[in-house]
Amino acid sequence: MNFDLTDEQDQLRDAVRALGRRYGHEYFVRKAKAGEHTTELWHEAGRLGYLGVNIPTEYGGGGGGITELALVCEELAAAGCPLLLLVVSPAIAATVINKHGTEEQRKRHLPGLADGSQKIVFAITEPDAGSNFHRLGTVARRDGDDWLLSGRKVYISGVDEADHVLVVARTEDSSTGKLKPALFIVPTDAPGLEKSKLDMEILSPENQFLLYLDDVRLPADALVGESLDAGLPALFAGLNPERITVAAMGAGTGRYAIEKASDYTATRKVWGGRSIGSHQGVAHPLAHAAVQVELARLMIQKAATLYDAGRDLEAGVSGNMAKYAAGEAAALAVDTAVQALGGAGMTTEYGVATLLGAVRAGRIAPVSREMILNFVAQHVLGQDKSY
Ligand SMILES: Cc1cc2nc3c(=O)[nH]c(=O)nc-3n(C[C@H](O)[C@H](O)[C@H](O)COP(=O)(O)OP(=O)(O)OC[C@H]3O[C@@H](n4cnc5c(N)ncnc54)[C@H](O)[C@@H]3O)c2cc1C
Repeated sequence: MNFDLTDEQDQLRDAVRALGRRYGHEYFVRKAKAGEHTTELWHEAGRLGYLGVNIPTEYGGGGGGITELALVCEELAAAGCPLLLLVVSPAIAATVINKHGTEEQRKRHLPGLADGSQKIVFAITEPDAGSNFHRLGTVARRDGDDWLLSGRKVYISGVDEADHVLVVARTEDSSTGKLKPALFIVPTDAPGLEKSKLDMEILSPENQFLLYLDDVRLPADALVGESLDAGLPALFAGLNPERITVAAMGAGTGRYAIEKASDYTATRKVWGGRSIGSHQGVAHPLAHAAVQVELARLMIQKAATLYDAGRDLEAGVSGNMAKYAAGEAAALAVDTAVQALGGAGMTTEYGVATLLGAVRAGRIAPVSREMILNFVAQHVLGQDKSY
């Protein structure tokens, strides 16, 4: 058992941390409040190779794994820049295309995803299906060699800044009634694809959208993989990277909040010469949150290690547990930090309340805490499926 990072991973962590700190949370908040994107940070991270750490070198990436991408997600978040699109574009889209796309799709998309010049977002959630993806209603029909896609998607992140959206649909000929999913790489400017921005109570430079697909015509090679049989494995291929990287983002956000609060409580004095942090009523909740974040980080490391070793089933259990633990720990850490800062905790200047919406959403998306508990109950504890 080894908890040490390799020298290369250590260097990556330090370099990403330095980049994140150069931009910092003020930059993140300024962009979000102005309704702008963190384009400069994204492009610089891409130029430095951090967005493509998990993409094979022959397609312009770093040749690492999800362990490396999780480090990038965690360190940027720990610097106050939790970039949700890292989870969507390099973690989900790049993994799906790399593992299940055609060689032509890999060549067309992976170099741009690696250097940040291209973003592919991900659309599975639907208004009438929600957590139950077996009810997906977005349908793909053949029309000659082409495909026609129709349906609706909701809460889709980053459509306004992406070139393509990876859409999960079902194929119409599923006469058995069983879900036969198929993934399509859809240009965001395709005729018939309309987007409508949702008003979300999350301070974030990334936006969520309702998507309407009305007979969106796609060429045959928009289908991920060589045939419809690629659909289900392609869909599952994105899940572990998604859970692990979103967990890493949560752990980084938790670290950021605890660091901010600890710096404050160690120096703030309102009772004579003693810091407020000397009061256990202030310090213990912070210490408790720090323990929860550290436990989540351990599970993230385990999940990423298993995933990179090709042990997908075990990574599925650990990845879900890591996502659950990190989601809870991040929400706890930010809330505890706000409390420890008192009134300052609610100001924009101190930069912790600015994360309340994001960490709250982290307990819902991309998979809710309840759906993870269902998974653990069924697959770890051997309980009957409850839904
Ligand atoms: C900020 C944000 C960004 C997002 N980005 C994307 C994106 O880029 N792409 C994308 O496809 N989706 C995205 N989503 C959607 C997200 O994945 C869904 O919101 C999430 O999967 C839950 O689905 P739902 O909102 O329809 O909730 P519902 O399925 O309606 O569930 C509502 C509540 O009921 C609970 N529940 C439902 N079923 C059960 C059950 N069987 N047992 C116990 N509890 C249950 C849920 O846990 C939840 O608390 C995003 C969401 C947010 C908030």
